[in-house]
Amino acid sequence: MRKAQHRASQPGHKRRAADRPLSKRWAQLAGVLAIPGGVLLAAAWVVPELASSSRSQVLLVSYLPYVILVLGLGLSWRFNDAPAFFALTVLLLAYWGLREGLPHGLGHGVRQRAIYNAIGLLLPLCFAAVCLLKGRGIFTVHGLVRFALMLLPAVVIAALITWPDVDPRQLLPAAIMHSGGTAWTPASPLAIGGFALAFVLLLARMSYQQRLVDGAIVGALAAAAIAVHTGAQMISTIVFMGAAGLLLLVGVVQDGYRKAYMDELTGLPGRRALEEELLKLSGSSYSVAMVDVDRFKKFNDTHGHAIGDQVLRMVATYLRHITGGGKAFRYGGEEFTILFSGKTAREAEPHLGELRERIAESSFVIRRGHRAKLTRPSISRSNRGRQRITISIGVAERNARITTPEKVIKAADRALYRAKQGGRNRVCR
Ligand code: GH3
Ligand code: MG
Ligand code: MG
Repeated sequence: MRKAQHRASQPGHKRRAADRPLSKRWAQLAGVLAIPGGVLLAAAWVVPELASSSRSQVLLVSYLPYVILVLGLGLSWRFNDAPAFFALTVLLLAYWGLREGLPHGLGHGVRQRAIYNAIGLLLPLCFAAVCLLKGRGIFTVHGLVRFALMLLPAVVIAALITWPDVDPRQLLPAAIMHSGGTAWTPASPLAIGGFALAFVLLLARMSYQQRLVDGAIVGALAAAAIAVHTGAQMISTIVFMGAAGLLLLVGVVQDGYRKAYMDELTGLPGRRALEEELLKLSGSSYSVAMVDVDRFKKFNDTHGHAIGDQVLRMVATYLRHITGGGKAFRYGGEEFTILFSGKTAREAEPHLGELRERIAESSFVIRRGHRAKLTRPSISRSNRGRQRITISIGVAERNARITTPEKVIKAADRALYRAKQGGRNRVCR
């Protein structure tokens, strides 16, 4: 069997889409874009349906984006999701500006054009900035700086809307004031440039990371772009700004779910997910394997915690592909759990044996620069930096005597202890 090699070159780096095969990346990208695509299509379908609404109906519907955006703000605050919180704030300010500044759509007045152009330019730029900057809390110094950056242009736009006596030329640069639309869109060239820049930056990040929340962000930007583009029709602005808010709200919920159930380091489901899965299995037959990396403390001490983290990611990759219908979880630290629903320990054992073998046969290469000093002179040049990682596994099943998940896990733990005592790099039942 060809030996697998894993490189540790960037300690602490996150799991990226670029690390996966191309077909999987496309499949994952499609998954990331499914909800945003669906919401945008639904919005496009709703607009003509609402076109014949009366003025009072439109007025009523126009409060809906506020409800969605404020709900999103509350949730992102509770989940401490600073980028989403500020992105929603940008949408809220922009929607308020469009609704109050152009209540009947874009007219011919200089003031309306100034408000429209300013929002068209500032919306994408602020949106991209708050989404791309690292989230460092909402009510912190970083958060306050972001508030200030957003509020400054918002105050200018608010002044234009609320004080008709203020001359727009005194508040806005001529480039923003005078540029008009093109044949296919009322948006100014500056706004088009702003949206294009935001799209390039956010799409680049989405294709790199492929997290669900990145898809939601790109979808929200697309919805906001359509809302600005159709600035002449209020109903379309309402529907698409509502859609943008909805997408971010869904993104916040999805990200909150991921944080609660998925382990950040390895990308495997975590302890909470395991506990819920075990609850579902109560009463039926299943077996549980406890997996522990051998002599991992020594590895950490020799190579450092960051390289140790890379090893855990590598081990997790093998666990994710366990055969026999097993499902892997990170139990905590350097311990993992594999759940075989409907299988006895005896049936699970060959699959665990294969997993143990595959990991023991792979080699882990620590690249120059991050490599711990190797002091043994007998190590040949080609073998330098190569590390062998092994795991020990204990497996137990639910039966007439061992009935609860806690008892099954305890029995698997005892089997794991026997595997360690027996010399490690083995499976015990
Ligand atoms: P044994 O073969 O008996 O399992 O020996 P061991 O050294 O692996 O066992 P022990 O439980 O004593 O050590 C576990 C070590 O795992 C301690 C800690 O340094 C390391 N560890 C736990 N969680 C993490 C983590 O998230 N990242 C890294 N890098 N190390 C971790
Ligand atoms: Mg341990
Ligand atoms: Mg260990």
